[in-house]
Amino acid sequence: MTEVLSILRPFGNNRSTCGYCGPQGQRSSARSSFTVGSEPLQLSCDAYQKMIDRGWRRSGTYCYKPDLRRSCCPQYTIKLDANEFTPSKSQRKVIARWNRHIIGNSEKGHETSPPIPSRSHDRGKSRADSGFSLINAVHAAERDFILSSDNTTHIFEVALESSSFTQEKYALYEKYQQTVHYDYRNSQTGFIDFLVDTPLVPEPIPYTRDPPKHLPQNYGSYHQLYRLDGKLIAMAVLDILPSCVSSVYFMYDAEWERFSLGKASALREASLAKEIHEHGALDMKYLYMGFYIHSCQKMRYKGDYSPSFLLDPVDYTWHPLQTCVKLLEKNRYACFSQPERSLSDPADPGPLPDRTFSTSDLDGVNVIDSFQGNKITLRPIIDQFDSLDTSDGIGEVIEGLGVELSRTIIFMID
Ligand SMILES: [Zn+2]
Repeated sequence: MTEVLSILRPFGNNRSTCGYCGPQGQRSSARSSFTVGSEPLQLSCDAYQKMIDRGWRRSGTYCYKPDLRRSCCPQYTIKLDANEFTPSKSQRKVIARWNRHIIGNSEKGHETSPPIPSRSHDRGKSRADSGFSLINAVHAAERDFILSSDNTTHIFEVALESSSFTQEKYALYEKYQQTVHYDYRNSQTGFIDFLVDTPLVPEPIPYTRDPPKHLPQNYGSYHQLYRLDGKLIAMAVLDILPSCVSSVYFMYDAEWERFSLGKASALREASLAKEIHEHGALDMKYLYMGFYIHSCQKMRYKGDYSPSFLLDPVDYTWHPLQTCVKLLEKNRYACFSQPERSLSDPADPGPLPDRTFSTSDLDGVNVIDSFQGNKITLRPIIDQFDSLDTSDGIGEVIEGLGVELSRTIIFMID
């Protein structure tokens, strides 16, 4: 198999109005979000895994990395250890309630999972709550997991498919935007740009045991469709990467609001990571829920899943959420690896940090010289870096990616 090329065009710095502050929040001049951006033509799943492990995230084919030090509402990458995840009592209730709705258990107030046989088994049941299996619970009411759906009140199906456009998905998205976010400026192209297009190139998942058919064969970008009695009621947009399931977006039909499908989806996605791991893809360990924004009350729910970790904005190490929260309570910008570098002033970005690389470190970083047929000719960036027109932010993008990862990526600059 030939190696997947990662080809990326740098876009440089971007400043936008912060979407997380309340309207009567901070001074409007301080309400800014700073990012560095790039548009990959294509990315290997491994390269993208390394990018999100340095704070990048994608929106369609556009990749961006927030500058936490300068933004009013710093966005920290959060990950949940899916293998160690123990759902809280209230999280289990969300699943149990949905399962009861599907199966039609009429006993009210009885909050346990229905005793449905399952094909999966959880490992490591040494905890006090050894009776609970996340994998069994999330699948317990699914048509493909129950012996006979004849006796259930409803038919519930979950299907994972490669990211693609359908009219049905767009209709769900449009309704979700209107009824949940009061956003009426939707279009099919907007939906495709945001939630269908992806730069990720699928590659086989190295299972050592044959996976059941509900698990994906490849890393890549997926849509996970929730169908109730045949009707699409919710959809998760997921990237399945070498060490994580990364949640890109979740939408649901507001008709089912009372069942907290957003919470249920996080449990289902954690279970997916755990199942892939249990079938021998041992690097798969985490659920990434995107960004944790401590200054935004609405976004703190991401911290409700334990054990979770936040990514340090300086050295990209991971720190337990509980220790991070203590610093985030006292500072606008918290640096977990070096707490003395934290900043409390909402508007103060502090002194600009120096670049972590110099031109001489760029040995092995290449740009496209020319395309001819299926042949790409590269040239080293090192000889010309100091004379480059850097308005495209190539320096910031390499800083954001790190030199090591940059050596595995081919840059397109004009
Ligand atoms: Zn803000």
